[in-house]
Amino acid sequence: MSIVPATAATIADAAALLSAGKLVAFPTETVYGLGGDAADDNAVAAIFAAKGRPTFNPLIVHGPGLSSFETSVVIDDRARLLASLFWPGPLTMVLPRHAKSTVSLLASAGLDSIAVRVPSHPVALALLRATSVLVAGPSANPSGRISPTTAQHVADGLADRVAMILDGGPCAVGVESTVIDLCGRRPTLLRPGGITLEALRDALGSVDIAGPVQPDGPRSPGMLSSHYAPALPVRLNARDAKPGEALLAFGPHDGAALNLSPSADLAEAAANLFAMLRALDDARYQAIAVAPIPESGLGLAINDRLRRAAAPRPSGKTLLP
Ligand code: AMP
Ligand code: MG
Repeated sequence: MSIVPATAATIADAAALLSAGKLVAFPTETVYGLGGDAADDNAVAAIFAAKGRPTFNPLIVHGPGLSSFETSVVIDDRARLLASLFWPGPLTMVLPRHAKSTVSLLASAGLDSIAVRVPSHPVALALLRATSVLVAGPSANPSGRISPTTAQHVADGLADRVAMILDGGPCAVGVESTVIDLCGRRPTLLRPGGITLEALRDALGSVDIAGPVQPDGPRSPGMLSSHYAPALPVRLNARDAKPGEALLAFGPHDGAALNLSPSADLAEAAANLFAMLRALDDARYQAIAVAPIPESGLGLAINDRLRRAAAPRPSGKTLLP
């Protein structure tokens, strides 16, 4: 790890590191971000590993402009309007995943939507312009520690977890980005932040405010599902598949439908988790059986998501009318 002052040359180096799958910390107008190639499952798994979070929260995907997201998310007129008014700036839009999207499913925690933003900090923008990839990035601090507003804060918390820390000076201490969900017919504010609700209402006419989150409530059209759950029932801590089940293995196994990591590597398992759950979640099977995952490191976050996926759902497979 090294702290380097942000210059044209070091920004070019950082861009190359990102394209090579490495993690780079960079300043934004809010806090320092921990960036990795959003399309690279391993880089995204490394972000979660570095943060040491016990759960996978969906990450914001950063790009240099609206057009950089054109094949990642479905951009409608509302999104175009908000982008023209508030980008670059502290507004994050949650939009439906594009059929051609290559963004890692781990970055969106398995959801069918992706959160996108164009930051206004000149170093962040220069980095995003210089690299060929979209950059997934949460704040560059270990889970539970305060958000980093200087390069030294990042170094204190993440030391050898990042390939480079681009020093752009202290962040203008700001609030987080506003998060608005545009996946449904009615725009919904998910998190207040730098762009005000009034400004969004002026632009869009009306904006709902997300109600209390019901983590395991029924999913219905128009309701944001807060986490990914397969349609099929999920059985945890399975050693083998019962008839009709697809086994999602971890570690060496001969009879598995898919294997999260034949070598029992938790980062590889995290990288594969959502894509493999989705691949097995279809009519060929009646249930998904998942092998035991160790409760350590990234295993905590993997097990958290698996437990949520396995939790009984009141509406079962059916979406409400
Ligand atoms: P942070 O990176 O700490 O600024 O937080 C990102 C915020 O965006 C969190 O509140 C996430 O829950 C939210 N977010 C990111 N992606 C999605 C998504 N696909 N759907 C809903 N919320 C999202
Ligand atoms: Mg944070």
